[in-house]
Amino acid sequence: MYVAGIIVAGGRGTRVGGTVPKQLLEIGGVSVLRRSVMACDAHAAIRELVVVLPEDLVAEGAALVGPTRLPCRVVAGGARRQDSVRAGFAAVSDAAEVVLVHDAARPFVTADVIDRVIRAAVETGAAIPAVPVADTVKRATVAGAERTVLKTVPREQLWLAQTPQGFLRAVLARAVADGAQASEATDEARLVELAGGAVAIVDGDRRNVKITTAEDVEEARRMSGVMRVGTGYDLHQLVGGRPLVLAGVVVPSAKGPLGHSDGDVVCHALTDAILGAAGAGDIGQMFPNTDARWKDAPGLDLLGRAVAAVRERGWTIVNADVTVILETPKLSPHMFEIRRRVADCLGVAADAVSVKGKTNEGVDAVGRGEAIASHAVALLTSSGGRA
Ligand code: MG
Repeated sequence: MYVAGIIVAGGRGTRVGGTVPKQLLEIGGVSVLRRSVMACDAHAAIRELVVVLPEDLVAEGAALVGPTRLPCRVVAGGARRQDSVRAGFAAVSDAAEVVLVHDAARPFVTADVIDRVIRAAVETGAAIPAVPVADTVKRATVAGAERTVLKTVPREQLWLAQTPQGFLRAVLARAVADGAQASEATDEARLVELAGGAVAIVDGDRRNVKITTAEDVEEARRMSGVMRVGTGYDLHQLVGGRPLVLAGVVVPSAKGPLGHSDGDVVCHALTDAILGAAGAGDIGQMFPNTDARWKDAPGLDLLGRAVAAVRERGWTIVNADVTVILETPKLSPHMFEIRRRVADCLGVAADAVSVKGKTNEGVDAVGRGEAIASHAVALLTSSGGRA
C-alpha cells in the first residue's frame, strides 16, 4: 500500500498572537511544523510527503521543513483549508493509493494513531482519529456577553476529530473536487460526509492536541519537556586603573579588565552558555561590538537581553554554574551579592545560581594576575517554570 502524507500549514494562525506564524513557533527548540513533518516522516508506512505552506513562506519552505528521509514537496496553500488541501493533493504522486491529511498544528501525533487511520481508511475509504467528549456539553444562546444554557447535549454520540485523516485516493479526489465548490469545511471528512460517504472513527490520542492559542503553545512546551545545556568561556586582560566588575558588582581591585566594555567575565561567559543552550548563536553575534548600541554595554545588560531572547523562544532557565579564575583579590566577600544579581537577571531563585572563585596557583597569565577568566554552564528547559 503506497501512502502519501499531506501536512497542511496553510494558515497564519493569528489566534496565537505575536508575529511568528503558529506553525513556526518552537517547542523545545523544534518548530511545530518540523515536529509534525518528522512524525509523518518517521512512519514506516508513509512513502512521500507534501507540505502546504502560506504562499509567502514557500520560498524558504525547504529550510522551514528541514531534512526528511522521504521525498518531500512544498506547495503554496489557498485561502481556505480545502483550497490548501486541494493544492497539496495536486502535488501527490500518481502512485499514492492512500492519502493522509495532517494538520501541521498537531505536532504530537503518534505512530499508533497514524497506523489506525491508515488501516481504517483502507477498509472504509475514509477514516479519522477522534476522542470521546469527556466534559458535559451545553447548548447555549449567546447575546453579547450574556450566555444562557438552552439544554444539556447528550455526549454519548459526540467525538472530537483529530488528524491525520485518511482517505483512499478516489475518495479524497471527490472530496477535494466537491470542496472547490462547497462553503468552508473545517476538515476533509466533512466533505466526504456531505457526499454521503462513510467515515470511520478510530481511537485518537488526547496528547495529539492542536496548537491554536498561546496557552496551547505553553502547554505543548511543558509537555515536550526538553532539556538543553550550554557552556561559555570568557577571558580579559587585567590592567591598572580599570574597575573590576563581576555581575555588575564593583570589586575593589588594583587592576580591572582591559576593553571598551566593562569586561564582566561572569556575565559574558554566562551569556554564551545561555545562548549556546538555546542554539541562539553567541554573544558576538547577538551583540557585535561594531554596533554602537553594544560597544560599551554593561555585561549585566547583555545577559538580561540574552535571557529575554531565549525566553521568547520558549526556554526557561533551570540553573547556572559559573567559575571565576582570578589570582587576586579574594572574591568570597562579594559572592553573595554577585550570585544575587545573577539570579535576579536570570529570573531564578538564588539557589539555582552558583558562582565560585578559584586561583590559577600562580601558573600562566591568569596565575600571574595578568588576566581574569570565567567558565559557565547553563541548563534550559522547554517545560516552563511551573511544576
Ligand atoms: Mg568578554
